[in-house]
Amino acid sequence: SIVRSHSGDEVFSPTRKRSNNIRLASYGVEEYEWALGWMNEQETDETISIRLDDSENKNGLIKVTTITLSRERIGTEVLIANPTPSAPNDLVTLDHFHEPTVVECLRRRFAQGHIYTNTGPVLIALNPFQNMTDLYGEDVMRRYWNHAEQPALDHDDLLPPHVYAIADNSFRNMMRGLEMSVSSSKKNTNQSILVSGESGAGKTVTTKYIMKYLAALSQRAHQSAAGRTRAYLNVPSSHSSSDLNSSFSIEAQVLQSNPILESFGNARTVRNDNSSRFGKFIQMQFCETGRLLGTAIETYLLEKVRVVHQSEGERNYHIFYELLSASVPEEESVRLQTRNRMPSDFKLLSSGTYVRRDGVKDSDTYQELQKAMKMIGFSSEEVSDIMAVTAAIMHASNTIFDPKVDEGCCVARDNAHVTAACQLLGIPIDDFEEALCFFSRIAGGQVYRSPQTVERAKKGLDALLKATYGALFEFLVKRINNSICGHENGHSSVIGVLDIFGFESFTTNSFEQLCINYCNEVLQQQFNTFMLKNEQAEYISEGIDWDFIKFPENQDVLDLIEHKTDGIMSILDDMCKAPGASDKAFASEIIKRCDKQSCFTANFKDTSPMFSIKHFAGSVEYTTDGFLEKNRNELPKETSELLRSSSSKFVHKLADIIVDSSSNGNAEASKTRTVKTVGGFFRQQVKDLRQKIDATYPHYVRCIKPNAALVHSEYDSAMVAQQLRCGGILQAVSVTRDGFTLHYSHEDFLQRYQVLVTETAGKVTVSKQAIEIECKKLVDTLLARIEEEEQYHSNKESADDLATEESAVD
Ligand code: ADP
Ligand code: MG
Repeated sequence: SIVRSHSGDEVFSPTRKRSNNIRLASYGVEEYEWALGWMNEQETDETISIRLDDSENKNGLIKVTTITLSRERIGTEVLIANPTPSAPNDLVTLDHFHEPTVVECLRRRFAQGHIYTNTGPVLIALNPFQNMTDLYGEDVMRRYWNHAEQPALDHDDLLPPHVYAIADNSFRNMMRGLEMSVSSSKKNTNQSILVSGESGAGKTVTTKYIMKYLAALSQRAHQSAAGRTRAYLNVPSSHSSSDLNSSFSIEAQVLQSNPILESFGNARTVRNDNSSRFGKFIQMQFCETGRLLGTAIETYLLEKVRVVHQSEGERNYHIFYELLSASVPEEESVRLQTRNRMPSDFKLLSSGTYVRRDGVKDSDTYQELQKAMKMIGFSSEEVSDIMAVTAAIMHASNTIFDPKVDEGCCVARDNAHVTAACQLLGIPIDDFEEALCFFSRIAGGQVYRSPQTVERAKKGLDALLKATYGALFEFLVKRINNSICGHENGHSSVIGVLDIFGFESFTTNSFEQLCINYCNEVLQQQFNTFMLKNEQAEYISEGIDWDFIKFPENQDVLDLIEHKTDGIMSILDDMCKAPGASDKAFASEIIKRCDKQSCFTANFKDTSPMFSIKHFAGSVEYTTDGFLEKNRNELPKETSELLRSSSSKFVHKLADIIVDSSSNGNAEASKTRTVKTVGGFFRQQVKDLRQKIDATYPHYVRCIKPNAALVHSEYDSAMVAQQLRCGGILQAVSVTRDGFTLHYSHEDFLQRYQVLVTETAGKVTVSKQAIEIECKKLVDTLLARIEEEEQYHSNKESADDLATEESAVD
């Protein structure tokens, strides 16, 4: 379409060229390439000149630049801006819709304190980086559900976009679907809310508000079913969850899963003070009346390497610091042998130089954790087992290996930490030493025992600590699920809430980034399919005259990564099985087999082999260093057997989890093709996730981090734009903007709107044809009404214009 180009229009013009590569790490140092300017009066037929004077520099001086461009550039290099005050609740309603205008509108709204903005069906949530108490209170919740339940009462008073509105919507959709499933069986009652965004953008906080709102709605459904009127939440109830010991309401228990997962799965990073180092899919199960039956939690890719190594300015998992905090009762710290110990006393806590959290005390979160475990129904024995293993991991990290004179090494015995670790794990110190300092091999029925170097023993210890912590986390998730997962029987619908790592691109990208970006490609495809393909397919099937809009298709990238034989992940799995393979060999193999693909580029110029993938969000360069080891997830057999030999039943359980999830130690599994590599397991999880989402009606929340300094007053346009591109939502929105935003079946439509034209809602149970005829009548009446209304307004406007003109003449 042609854009208007009157002189004096506000326009956006590019100030620099955009590169294809993206670097999330270099955030905040670049200027946004689009600047707001004005088209000058003295334009000619061929050229336009634009005055850019918005760029106030640090000294407060305004730099004015005038650029002259060919008129043809309008629409590509010059984009028409919207009238200045416009920053509507839904950006789809803007006259001119493109990236700079979205960035600008979000900036204006952010400055006014509006962190939520709709963009068609996607809710954009800007992280306010400050407490917004007025935004989330019970009164606000009530406004949203009252609005949904009594639409007639405040029809004129549309509520502003909010994460509660999304949660409410999904709940109503589910309930409506449930009611209808009686008559038409194909209704989709399951819902999902997919929360995305980069680290620190606010996904986890958003997810918690969604859970809280849904839990409150559940309590409400319960209360109204019981004929009572008083409110909700955290109130102990007689409703019995699957954990019979517990006297807490299932709603309260479900919410209490968060503090546990956060203590063990969150850490301070340079991007986020409370960064979740795992992804999660929370499936909340409801019964027909809208009551919460339970919740199943699935987690993804816990960052285990953090247990043994943290970067500068980052911390290990919160739990370790919590165990050393002042809140731990004396007898407990005596038992754990952590009394009067500081984080700096433990090797595992000192590689990132000990940093505190901002405004959050480890002693407070320790207490919240204890309360949460109790509410969920952990026995005191379980809690004490969990803490013992956590403390043992801390102590064990201080193990020192002394080289032996001849060959190999041994564990230095004059070390209280080692004794403590072995005691807490229930293993003899000699076995501990044997497992780490020797390597045994079976050949020809004979066992050969060879000593390990200090270097290798240290690596073995790191592997043991990572595996044990990983197993502990897995245990916790399973244990929480055991308590809060709903009954299998009984009709239920699910609202799934996904809080998962967004697209990543750093200066150095490795296997983890490949997994994360792969997952984001899958989610992006789901989004594109849902938003664009389905939408347009429907127009066609409905016989609507429609110009097909091109949308980004990323199947080629997915094939490159996940193809059964020639995908990067399968090649990696094959290499992991091949004896003596190296990262370099892996690199040569993928270059040989993937180089033909247009989204793949090999780069061998530096010492370590790299390859780039052109993702939907931009190109990312990966280094192959460490790919094999990270994918193998191997724990030497000696160490898993060491844990199995423990006198503690709990440690046994952890050993079983380790053996179950590792590619080694499971001889049966390695013989068949079901070797569990990290990539293979994750691929399976992502596939399941996609299938689950496909079986739901999805809702999207896109969290955006407005600045890299994590402060409340700054808005960095370049950074916001980058995140919008990574989310790939603008193209999708263009389609819905040009298309139809609401879809109803004829039946639903009649049921909903018939009251507008007749006194009573129709009881339309006749033929499909009759319904269609009714609908058509209804639409015609409504259209006539709208036209009347418009006519009235335009008459009124021209009358107003006349009046002002007259007064001007006066
Ligand atoms: P993510 O999960 O995307 O990495 P978080 O949800 O942990 O990010 O948010 C990071 C931090 O940002 C939070 O610890 C909190 O301080 C702040 N934050 C995020 N969302 C909000 C919000 N809606 N209101 C207030 N602060 C928020
Ligand atoms: Mg998070």
